Amino acid sequence: MKADIERKVKQTIEKYKLLSKKDKVLVACSGGKDSTTVLFLLNKFGYDVEALFIDLFIGKYSEKNKEDVERFCSELGVKLHEVSVKDVVGYSVCYLKSVLKSKGCNLKSCAICGAVKRHILNRYAKRLKKTKLVTGHNLDDEAQSFVMNLLKDRMDLSLRLGPKTGVVEEKGFVPRVKPLYFCAEKDVEEFSRLMKFPVVYDSCPCSVDAFRRDVGRFLDKLERDAPGIKLRIVDYFLERMPRSKKRLGKLGYCENCGEPCSGKVCNVCGMVGLLGGKKRKVYK
Ligand SMILES: [Zn+2]
Repeated sequence: MKADIERKVKQTIEKYKLLSKKDKVLVACSGGKDSTTVLFLLNKFGYDVEALFIDLFIGKYSEKNKEDVERFCSELGVKLHEVSVKDVVGYSVCYLKSVLKSKGCNLKSCAICGAVKRHILNRYAKRLKKTKLVTGHNLDDEAQSFVMNLLKDRMDLSLRLGPKTGVVEEKGFVPRVKPLYFCAEKDVEEFSRLMKFPVVYDSCPCSVDAFRRDVGRFLDKLERDAPGIKLRIVDYFLERMPRSKKRLGKLGYCENCGEPCSGKVCNVCGMVGLLGGKKRKVYK
């Protein structure tokens, strides 16, 4: 079981050329089972890894995550960087969500949190001169996201999917890679429990994305009835991704923070702008 996950992660890294030993790798560590597992394995395989924890200020949940990540990194001897969402965007995710809602912009916490985290990860990876960013996305996350984008008719968002992000060659983006891409969530959880990692297994108290939950349950049911369906979904996506990538227009750069984006300002500066706030350029 333990060996299965290790073999799968090694194969994924090799097949998709996700990482080389020359890479300076930054692992986005949330304190959950997936990012903890991926940090452990990359460190074990001898990659040059450091970790980044983003404090989202979600009460006790974030406090426990932070403690766990600090403890785990110190046990592994991996350098940990910590950054607060408030320092970068000026607000906590919950505050952003409630104010945006009051202005008629009804984004889900997970959408806001995802945009803010991607933004911070990219900026911080550049600041630390990293050549690769690693996230703990697993097979279930990817299959769910693909089906959700399909059902919402937002296939443009699927360019973020895949073992390597779809816009890796774009200047200003540190390539994001997902070594757990072909690992089922239940297998990662089993590995993490076997290894007795200090991890919070509860889902985030802010994650009230009912649609993702429903799609997840639906796929779990299909997987029970027809084992291998999640893998077939991502395989289908991977076969078609190169064509979709070609259709992606050139990206520009945010007028405010300079991050790559498709509009005049990036999603995060757009959200903060709606609040009438001025985004802090702490990394410039
Ligand atoms: Zn921006």
